[in-house]
Amino acid sequence: MFSPVTLYVIGIMSGAVSAAVLGSLLHSRIPGLLRWIAAHALIIAAMLALALNSNSPPPLTIAVAGVLFITAGFLVLHGYRLFFGLRAMRLDEITAYAIAVAGVLYFTYIAPSLDARIVLTSTFLGYVRMAVSWTAYVHRPRHRPAYSYFFVSAIAALGGLVHLARALAVVVGLESHTQFMDPSPLNIGFIATGIVTLPCLAIGAVMLAYDRMAEQMERLATIDELTGALTRREFMAQAESRLERARRSQSAFSVAILDIDHFKAINDAHGHAAGDLALAYFSSIVAHNVRTGDLFGRLGGEEFGILFPDTRREEAKALVDRLRMRVDESALAAHCGEISFTFSAGVDEYRPDDTLANLMARADAALYSAKAMGRNRVVSAVPTESPMGVVNE
Ligand code: GH3
Ligand code: MG
Ligand code: MG
Repeated sequence: MFSPVTLYVIGIMSGAVSAAVLGSLLHSRIPGLLRWIAAHALIIAAMLALALNSNSPPPLTIAVAGVLFITAGFLVLHGYRLFFGLRAMRLDEITAYAIAVAGVLYFTYIAPSLDARIVLTSTFLGYVRMAVSWTAYVHRPRHRPAYSYFFVSAIAALGGLVHLARALAVVVGLESHTQFMDPSPLNIGFIATGIVTLPCLAIGAVMLAYDRMAEQMERLATIDELTGALTRREFMAQAESRLERARRSQSAFSVAILDIDHFKAINDAHGHAAGDLALAYFSSIVAHNVRTGDLFGRLGGEEFGILFPDTRREEAKALVDRLRMRVDESALAAHCGEISFTFSAGVDEYRPDDTLANLMARADAALYSAKAMGRNRVVSAVPTESPMGVVNE
């Protein structure tokens, strides 16, 4: 025999499992997580209140449970909005929420009507689920694997459709409820689907959160935190694939190695923190002055690399020289006063059957010459058979 308590207990267990799964992310500080956990706590509380009064719940229990369900749905939507970096609240939705809450109270105490309450709460919950589905679909990051975003979008849409269908079934007279938790097959189906989509949404939230964390880790591995330049590993990996392409298509590309002059003196005079600022400042000048498609990476300490695709040695040298003048005439306004600095650079281009190590070694030798010649200059490697030669131009 059907007992409403069975569904409540399943609902409580599913809510608890969802909350526990979400709790595993507490350390991650993912935006929206606290709203999601709070929503599950409210759902568990509502189910518990109903389960404890399952035979004939008093109006207070019914009203409180209704308001808790509505609030939980609202919080889930806010959580998703925050997750995607959007504003959680919207005035029209707050108004709709207030109307739904007032309606639940009205149709419990003033003009008791189970059908009206179901239409009201199901419509509101149907809307918030659809809004979650839309948010996850529209704001999914296009550069990430789409599966988890589609999963959340589909599950939320399914839950939303079930809620809206329930409201519609009552409105068109397909369903009419005379007692709370009517054990009709349609009613049980509606409620059971709601219970199943709940943990699915929580799992979906976890999938999104893990994707966000994976993205952050990938970013840390590819982008140098202090300067925003590519990390050495990423720069070399991209340069390697660029070299492969050049080998196949016999196209040109050049590499420059830049090293800030007397950087140790900046650290010594102004402190390590000011040195860090100078590195970030230098990188922002470079980033603003290289062309789209050029690669800029931090090779280590105060040494950087730039890869110029489809660019011959002399053009690359001219580009780096212009950059050198830009850096020379800029000064960082730090709290300890203005910090000026220069850099030296070595440049060379890809030669047929080159390896990246050889190309970098030639650019490095040219950089060494630039330093030996007095710094604040750009030197390109000798365009001859001599593999390590440099020329002062
Ligand atoms: P040169 O003109 O010959 O290149 O002289 P230099 O002083 O720039 O070269 P050197 O290699 O002697 O010193 C580089 C300094 O860069 C030493 C190191 O403490 C500093 N450095 C490396 N990485 C960082 C960093 O992330 N932040 C700061 N503030 N300093 C760094
Ligand atoms: Mg240096
Ligand atoms: Mg150095």
